[in-house]
Amino acid sequence: MILEKYSFGIGDRFSHQGKAQLAAIIKAKQQGINITPVWNKSNREHTIIGTTHADTRKEADEAVKACKWNEPYFVDADHIGLGNVDKFIEYSDFFTLDVADFIGEPADSAKVKEFVQKHKKYIGSLSIDGIDAPLEITEEQIRQITNKTLLAAQQAGEIYRHIAAAKGDNNFITEVSMDETDLPQTPIEMLFILAAVSAEGIPAQTIAPKFTGRFNKGVDYVGDIAQFAREFEEDLAVVAFAVKEFGLPENLKLSIHSGSDKFSIYKPMKEAMKKFDAGLHIKTAGTTWLEELIGLAMAGGDGLVIAKEVYTRALTRMDELCGPYATVIDIDSAKLPSVQEIDKWDGQQFAAALRHDQSCPGFNPNLRQLLHVGYKIAAETGTRFTDALDKYEQTIAANVTENIYDRHIKPLFLD
Ligand SMILES: [Zn+2]
Repeated sequence: MILEKYSFGIGDRFSHQGKAQLAAIIKAKQQGINITPVWNKSNREHTIIGTTHADTRKEADEAVKACKWNEPYFVDADHIGLGNVDKFIEYSDFFTLDVADFIGEPADSAKVKEFVQKHKKYIGSLSIDGIDAPLEITEEQIRQITNKTLLAAQQAGEIYRHIAAAKGDNNFITEVSMDETDLPQTPIEMLFILAAVSAEGIPAQTIAPKFTGRFNKGVDYVGDIAQFAREFEEDLAVVAFAVKEFGLPENLKLSIHSGSDKFSIYKPMKEAMKKFDAGLHIKTAGTTWLEELIGLAMAGGDGLVIAKEVYTRALTRMDELCGPYATVIDIDSAKLPSVQEIDKWDGQQFAAALRHDQSCPGFNPNLRQLLHVGYKIAAETGTRFTDALDKYEQTIAANVTENIYDRHIKPLFLD
């Protein structure tokens, strides 16, 4: 199985918007850009919402059938480890092996020694196409990096082999993710991580490094854009080098776990992809759920009532809802509208506060982040919420498609 040059990871908490999401990918195809849709859902999300792993597969298959999509598509077991991969194996054909927890944990010292020995030829100046200055590599550096990352690569190898034993080697796409760590990886670290991934025999087709800056859920990038652009380009250069040097799959590309809506880095990403003729996997979070709320609010009537209710309850249960997402949200609670204020809003006001349009004076990133993690509230209402999704499907679907196509695909791949 081969992952095409461009792929787009879409999340859909309630598994109702598969067709509307796919419609955005189809629109891109009509404009001449081929993007492979990848439906991703993490174990955390399944647990909070009460969906099963079979639901995501069913949704993807049904959307593809209904839209007559004859191109590849995948279902991503997002951020899995040995502890939770089994439930995904039957339904997924894309696996994001998350080994961030093992970074910094020491590997067997004999194995470290062996790895360092094997890579001694890189000591000194190493020129890599696309990186201005040669990388200056010392033996001590290789040892430190190996100490820090070898165990993570070995763990990825174990998960990979576990999945391969069940599904067969060529029947799924492998991503290795290290994005949920504290510090971004340097180009030299990336180089030896990729060497270790190759040594483990993992046919990774995409790799998710950690970048500088904050990738909060559902809001824009916060950080040094120039620094991000530099890291992104250096990683592209190292990936291209490592593919040849270590015999990794030729289509290996970067995966950006964007947490959705990193609009301000789309331009440098696009420019870098062009410069390196590189592919991209862009993983977005479950912001489609926010488009559902926007659609409900705009539809008015009981749709707006539900949207307001979700906010009101989320406000009183903030700590509980934000807990699992503490490291990836920044909510200024002083700037959250009160229940009384929200009460007076009409559907347009609610939609304007929630929709990610930074040029709109009504936009409120705090409300947006709170609602982003507030899907548990909607899940608790059971069929009341999902019935409303069915009732107002048209309004919602238009928002879902427009969001993915206009705000993400266009600036990244088309404009
Ligand atoms: Zn991630």
